[in-house]
Amino acid sequence: MLYYSYQDYVDNINLCIKLGYTVERIGISHAGLPIYAIHRGRFDTPQVLLHASIHAREHITSLLLEDLMHHSTHEVGVWYVPMLNPDGVRIATEGVGWLGEDRARFVQSICPDTSIYKANMRGVDLNVNFDAGWSEGVGNVSTPASQGYVGVSPFSERESVAIRDFTYRVRPRLTISYHSKGEVIYYTYRGEGEEYESEALEFARLLSYTIAYSPNSAGGYKDWYLLNKMGMGLTIEIGSDEYEHPYPYSDYHRIYNAHRDIISLCAKVVRNI
Ligand SMILES: [Zn+2]
Repeated sequence: MLYYSYQDYVDNINLCIKLGYTVERIGISHAGLPIYAIHRGRFDTPQVLLHASIHAREHITSLLLEDLMHHSTHEVGVWYVPMLNPDGVRIATEGVGWLGEDRARFVQSICPDTSIYKANMRGVDLNVNFDAGWSEGVGNVSTPASQGYVGVSPFSERESVAIRDFTYRVRPRLTISYHSKGEVIYYTYRGEGEEYESEALEFARLLSYTIAYSPNSAGGYKDWYLLNKMGMGLTIEIGSDEYEHPYPYSDYHRIYNAHRDIISLCAKVVRNI
C-alpha cells in the first residue's frame, strides 16, 4: 500500500455497515465529507474513544485504527473515529485537483508540497483549535498555514466541533488521540492528568514508547479533554523519528505489531480509573 486514502476510509465504513457494526456520522467537513464514528463491543461498560488523522499527513494513523477495530477483542465499548480531518487527508494524499479552483490555489499558496500538509481545508491546524489555552502554544500562528494556525476562535472548525460534541455525548472515560511521529506518549496538560501516571506507563511499556511532556503546547483535543476532567486522555505518536513525513507505510507492520494488544489494555485500564 502506497498510502491509506480517503477511498480506503469510505470502503471501510461500508464494510463496517455490512458487518453490522454501529456506525454514526458525527459531523461533516468543510468540503462536505462525512466524519464517522464506529462502535465495537459493549455499551454497558465504561467507553473508550480513539481518533486518528486530525493531522492530514498522519493518515497512517487511520490505517492503524481500521486494523484495531477489526482485529481486536472488545471487552468494553470502544468508539473509533478513524479520520477526523478527511479534507486534509485528501489534500495530503491526492493533492488539490479535487478542490475548487480558488480553494486549490489557496492550499497550494500555504503549502506547495501538499504531501506534508497538516491542517484542514481552511488552513486551520485542528489540534490547536480546542478551548484549552487556545492560541497560547509555542508554534501557534495567527494566519492560515499548513500547521499551527489556531483559527479565528476555539472550535471555529466543523471537525473540532464534531469530536467535541461527540465526546460530550458518549462520555468516554479514556481517549487516545493518534498522531505521528516520535514513539512517545503524552498524558498531561498543565497539571491535569498526572493522576494517571501509572496507567500511562503501562501503555508505554506495551508499546516500548517513552513518556513525554510538552508544557509549551496547548489547544489540543487531549488538552481540552483533560481540562474538562472527563477521564484519562493520551496522545500517542506512532512511528520512528528516523523517518520523514509523509511516513513510510513500509514501516507499518512494525507499528501494528506494537499495538496489537492495545485495546485489551484499554479495557483493563478503563475499568480501573
Ligand atoms: Zn499530529
